[in-house]
Amino acid sequence: MVNNERVLNAFHAHYSHMDGVRLFRAPGRVNLIGEHTDYNDGFVLPVAIDLDTLVAIRPRNDSIISVYSVNRSERGEFDLEQPKEIERGNWVNYIEGTARRILKKGHSLVGADIALESDVPTGAGLSSSASLEIAVGIALLTISGEQVDRKELARAAQEGEHEYTGALIGIMDQLSSALGDENSALLIDCRSLDINYIWIDVTKHALMICNTGVKHDLATSAYNDRRRECAEATSIIGHYYPNVISLRDVTETQLMHVRDKMSPMLFRRARHVVTENHRTLAAAEALRNRNFDRLSELMYASHESLKLDYEVSAPELDLLVDTALTIPGVYGTRMTGGGFGGCTVSFVVRDRLLDFTERMKSIYKRETGRNLEIYQPEIVRGAEEVAERFMPVANE
Ligand code: ADP
Ligand code: MG
Repeated sequence: MVNNERVLNAFHAHYSHMDGVRLFRAPGRVNLIGEHTDYNDGFVLPVAIDLDTLVAIRPRNDSIISVYSVNRSERGEFDLEQPKEIERGNWVNYIEGTARRILKKGHSLVGADIALESDVPTGAGLSSSASLEIAVGIALLTISGEQVDRKELARAAQEGEHEYTGALIGIMDQLSSALGDENSALLIDCRSLDINYIWIDVTKHALMICNTGVKHDLATSAYNDRRRECAEATSIIGHYYPNVISLRDVTETQLMHVRDKMSPMLFRRARHVVTENHRTLAAAEALRNRNFDRLSELMYASHESLKLDYEVSAPELDLLVDTALTIPGVYGTRMTGGGFGGCTVSFVVRDRLLDFTERMKSIYKRETGRNLEIYQPEIVRGAEEVAERFMPVANE
């Protein structure tokens, strides 16, 4: 867990006194199933996890937002009233993008001093970026006295990330961080943004995340390529079936009818999305019925589809999935997040956890020479103000 005291100390070090400082948190997330479906208007099934971005914030009496990141040991700032040209590659973009989109939606924001720290690993597919955006977004809105619907905040953060970082991500990460709930998966319809909360029975099975520690270079550009490929496939299919607005609308039968109208590659991309939507709805049903055998089948099938049809897996992820398949007590494992590295997610029977972690770590080390990090996250609530905000600051 990120440490309140460390964030408050950082705030104190950079902005001197502590009067009126408030604390907010927003979680990262892990997606159980429904990968690369959000930007196709489809279904996703994430949970918010107990890795957080923690934000200490105080209003200023001008329009400057000053942010210090403990993780980066860096401070950045921008002026709400004076947009400048976007400089790609700067971490402050995630914050500036969110803030400017909130303004664009008609809300007003005050300037603020901010110190923040996150224990969501960056670039690991657990959504450090959305956790950062939502934590700062909720903090800024609250100190500005603005009431904002959390779905609107999620949309602002997503649009800001598009504009300011060029990553054309879907809406899943921001919605999970803003609207997660304890021991619940969020079945999100990414067209209507309706969310069905599905209670997860974690008494016998634990959620486990394995972090490969690798991120291959092509992650962002390949993500945007996949979006374009989906749009191309949709427009070809839409030519024959005019009611098709996105891949969400395509049935497997329709897809088979137009198979020879597109390249084999586009067909495979579309097949992943169409079948993944079915798997996600089926997995939500399996979770509801505590049918972990069914959930397990669906998670492995999702991984196969991401590896072969969507081509976003990585050798390290495949190694972890293949290894998990040989370990008793594992109920499903798949890559999670955008892919090309990052993490896998599994359900593991609690009395086999030790065996699972030992075997996964030792085989990963033997095959790749790398250490495997394993988390056993709690499933937690979405963004909120943290009550104990006036902890004593050391050395004051
Ligand atoms: P993911 O969201 O899967 O972790 P992204 O590439 O979308 O990966 O976002 C990671 C980026 O978000 C980092 O490279 C950094 O720019 C920014 N970021 C996330 N958390 C922090 C933080 N605590 N301090 C500064 N920048 C952060
Ligand atoms: Mg991200």
